[in-house]
Amino acid sequence: MTIKELMNITKSISLFQEAQTLFPGGVNSPVRAFRAVGEQPLFIERGEGPYLFDVDGNRYIDYVLSWGPLITGHAHPDVVKAIQEAALMGTSYGAPSPLEIELAKSIMEFMPNIEMIRFVNSGTEATMSALRLARAYTKREKIIKFDGCYHGHADMLLVQAGSGVATLGLPDSPGVPSAVASDTLVAQFNDLESVEALFKKYPDQIAGLIVEPVAGNMGVVPPLPGFLEGLRKLATEHATLLIFDEVMTGFRVHKGGAQTLYNIKPDLTTLGKVIGGGLPVGAYGGKKEIMQMVAPLGPMYQAGTLSGNPLAMSAGIAALSLIRGEEVWRKLEQAVVKLEAGVASASKQAGIPIQQTRVGTMFTTFFSETKPVGWNTVKVADKVQFGKFFQKMLENGVYLAPSQFEAGFISTLHTDEIIDKTIEAVTESFRTW
Ligand SMILES: *Cc1c(COP(=O)(O)O)cnc(C)c1O
Repeated sequence: MTIKELMNITKSISLFQEAQTLFPGGVNSPVRAFRAVGEQPLFIERGEGPYLFDVDGNRYIDYVLSWGPLITGHAHPDVVKAIQEAALMGTSYGAPSPLEIELAKSIMEFMPNIEMIRFVNSGTEATMSALRLARAYTKREKIIKFDGCYHGHADMLLVQAGSGVATLGLPDSPGVPSAVASDTLVAQFNDLESVEALFKKYPDQIAGLIVEPVAGNMGVVPPLPGFLEGLRKLATEHATLLIFDEVMTGFRVHKGGAQTLYNIKPDLTTLGKVIGGGLPVGAYGGKKEIMQMVAPLGPMYQAGTLSGNPLAMSAGIAALSLIRGEEVWRKLEQAVVKLEAGVASASKQAGIPIQQTRVGTMFTTFFSETKPVGWNTVKVADKVQFGKFFQKMLENGVYLAPSQFEAGFISTLHTDEIIDKTIEAVTESFRTW
């Protein structure tokens, strides 16, 4: 069965037909097309708190939350007000504004390890720039990334990548020059030996080691004890920069990101998603000594027409101020733990084996009997079972990421009542398996 046959989504169907004549695959980002789970995406009319409403008037509890950014839910009044007030003052200046200082200081309060920062417009720009910086600083060319980790779509990072690349089962993307890809070395997540082997093979050639400290783009895979510590030690020994890509984990696994949760100091950090409060923002930052390489202070060039955009800065400031308190995090944690327990008990009753992973407000339910510790143990998950679960949840009013290899997210507006409703949907989905 496909979503088309199961649900009343007439308007989405006709919009998708038109969209396919306009956009490749009908979408502006690949995983949105629902290819792995039903061949028909929903077209969304609006978001409100924990809910999404499609153009046919169906309401869903949303666990995608724009793929992570909306930690305060859809259209939070404070965020909307901040954007409205900013818009009245002009939508872009192409000149510095005090809002940039305010958001930077707010981020640094959460992540004191960041001494200097540069705002960009997306996570892709942030990781791309951080790698250029690592190369400029170390005067080396090679980088190490991990199989199944996703860092945006820049050429040198589209090698054995997670997220949509993994979901669609694509080989490494055509169009990436082989000369560029050959400088990208790939290690296995949670496998320090695979990293050591690369350092041995390419002595004094590795500029940066980039990692999602909690992998989120192959589904959530937490670091095993000692893994991040080991990376820190190896990077230091080999004078390679350790880059934590916290575009997803920043303000998701802990209010201070993975670097605070695991108490590891990366040399550079990349951010995005939550820091824009639902508007397009990215950032990279870290040690002053390294960031001083960036133009105009230093020689490494990187620029952006809309970087530090006042609307985006205002939305980010409002969102971060809503998640500053301890109480908010206690509630978020409580909600997600309850959800996890509900899913566990429903699947157990139905006799369907699953593996649940979670760190902070990010989680995944893998249909698998194998504990996920890296891409090799993740990719064995049963995608057919997941597709069935996805469709049943959608029918029962819950919108999950349309792929087995993505993280789920909750917001501060996923109240107890919302979680209860979700658990009912899970129970009903498994009951009618
Ligand atoms: C989403 C994501 C990116 C890319 O960010 P975009 O804003 O989509 O360009 C990079 N790294 C990680 C870890 C991400 O989750």
